[in-house]
Amino acid sequence: MKLREIINKIFLIEIFKGLFLTLRMLFSKPVTIQYPLQRRKIYPGFRGRHALVRDPFTGNEKCIGCMRCTSVCPSRCIYIKREKTENKMIVTDYVIDASRCIFCAYCVEACPVCALVLTEDFEYSDYMRKNLIFNKEQLLKNWDEFASKWPYDVYFNKFWQPPGIDPSRWPKTKREQKPIPIKRFVEIKKEESDESSS
Ligand code: SF4
Ligand code: SF4
Repeated sequence: MKLREIINKIFLIEIFKGLFLTLRMLFSKPVTIQYPLQRRKIYPGFRGRHALVRDPFTGNEKCIGCMRCTSVCPSRCIYIKREKTENKMIVTDYVIDASRCIFCAYCVEACPVCALVLTEDFEYSDYMRKNLIFNKEQLLKNWDEFASKWPYDVYFNKFWQPPGIDPSRWPKTKREQKPIPIKRFVEIKKEESDESSS
């Protein structure tokens, strides 16, 4: 044992250092917040509950069933069922097992049509694991819930045009992707519910 370590042991230096740190923190500003009364600001790039983006004008999912998200997902937690019609691929189901997801956002980055998003919604914990397996309807519902709370008219996810990749290598649809008009979709839903209630 070195002399310095022996001195530290005899004079309980480490303990006094710890006590001094505790004492210092007693008078510093607290870093904890009173959640849920107080909420932290969510920064761009936050990765919360998964959602399938609706086309703001048709109301259908934007997903074209290209399977790129399933290929890049390191957790293998995306399952897609699709059917090929004469000239179009129809996505009949799209499932994400959020309990296995590691929130890397590779799926969001890889999607050529910006059809998938990790929303800013983080309050979706559940006691039942099966409730964290989102099917297509639930993923679209997740988007509706997210969109209804979104405070702006348009939405654009940071991972739809990932930094670090030369934009010339992105698919054309990704290069030309503009922010999605949220309010237009909300208006359509409202018009539909007004029509059905009248
Ligand atoms: S965020 Fe990552 S782990 Fe989660 S579904 Fe997407 S690719 Fe898979
Ligand atoms: S990458 Fe996008 S378009 Fe392709 S299957 Fe996944 S969500 Fe759908």
